[in-house]
Amino acid sequence: MHRAEQLYNLQCTDSEFDKLARRLREVEASLGETEELRQVRLDLQKAEQALNRQQIRLRDLELENASLADKLAANEQRLYGGTVRNPKELAGLQEENTSLRQRKNQLEDVILEVMIEVEEAQERVRCARDRLTQVEKQWRAEQERLTTERGELQAHLCALDARRRELRAVMPPDELKIYDDLRRRKGGRAVVLLKEGVCQGCQVSLPSSEAQQARQGEVLVFCGSCGRILYAH
Ligand SMILES: [Zn+2]
Repeated sequence: MHRAEQLYNLQCTDSEFDKLARRLREVEASLGETEELRQVRLDLQKAEQALNRQQIRLRDLELENASLADKLAANEQRLYGGTVRNPKELAGLQEENTSLRQRKNQLEDVILEVMIEVEEAQERVRCARDRLTQVEKQWRAEQERLTTERGELQAHLCALDARRRELRAVMPPDELKIYDDLRRRKGGRAVVLLKEGVCQGCQVSLPSSEAQQARQGEVLVFCGSCGRILYAH
């Protein structure tokens, strides 16, 4: 039995486990509400508030207009009703009538402008609502995909964990200790391939006698440069 082979198999299993565990953490971090979703929801809220303000303004202007119409009707009643005969008083009423009409005309112009603004605000609310619907739909599909991926990763990690326990169960404890120490110190990679005499952990060439030993596999051979266990087959 090649001394480094089992360690290399364990390394492959551990590396795969680490890779999938990293992906699982990413997936879990991506589950839940996104910044985009929050932003689009906020945009809709703002558009609705703006519409609400314009509608309140329009209602106030319309009330003011109705009140002016009442005043104007009362004024005309007195002006043309025949009850007031005093020329000075009639002139005063006439003046008031002109001024009321002027104010009412101005107010009606403003009302028209605000009605257009309300329509524009309604359009902005419609757009913001459509956008939210679209973003929510994409978000739900993405969440569903991520949830499926999380389930697959969890199952895969569970299988890998069982596999590495099996491998460790039949390996000498002193080799496992060396392996675990190296994994801690070397960024998770304790065993690397030796290809054409070059360590694949640090890309340094090994003296040919050591490369030969690594291929024979009777003893564990360590890279003189990075210190990792070498596996050549
Ligand atoms: Zn090396």
